[in-house]
Amino acid sequence: MGSTRSRSLGPANSFMAKLYFRYSAMNSGKTTSLIQTAFNYQERGMRVVIIKPAVDSKGGSRVVSRLGASRKADILLTPTDSVTEALAEQESISCVLVDEAQFITPAQIDELFWYATNQHVPVIAYGLRTDFQTVGFPGATRLLELAHDIQELKTICRCGKKATLNGRKVNGIFVFNGDQVAIDGEQNVEYESLCANCYQTFKAAV
Ligand SMILES: [Zn+2]
Repeated sequence: MGSTRSRSLGPANSFMAKLYFRYSAMNSGKTTSLIQTAFNYQERGMRVVIIKPAVDSKGGSRVVSRLGASRKADILLTPTDSVTEALAEQESISCVLVDEAQFITPAQIDELFWYATNQHVPVIAYGLRTDFQTVGFPGATRLLELAHDIQELKTICRCGKKATLNGRKVNGIFVFNGDQVAIDGEQNVEYESLCANCYQTFKAAV
């Protein structure tokens, strides 16, 4: 028998939706998880809104998983857009899903937090925590500060250990200097999730 004490913290209609941050290193299946979540909502007749940062040019207006599944984004967000206004143009939202959330600005993360709080709609943001130099993306750092619920999605390094860092390769060679944002698949840039030991080894070899 569980506690008989009421778990309610207020009136029954005061359900509080949360801002969720699901983070990981590259290639853990974040977009696959997003597309699965969208499917689960829609299977129950509920509408989701998918937000994609416009800076992520990979896949155009679609979010694309490595497994091959893809979905059209409902909102392509530029850094100067108001998330609140963009969401106000959508109807009957049961859940907001954000792909590559590390590219959303801190101010837009604040908007998502207050949207979840005030509109009672859960917002699930998927993204990287840090860049290829182990520095937090501003949007990801704001998510770590604000999200009600934070969960790490796990992936593995080439050595079999858990990967927590992101290595950037240009023309197949690891690089440790450059701009924070360089899109996967463009200008011969690719990423590999690494454990700290392997990251350190590759960095020492440069
Ligand atoms: Zn490793």
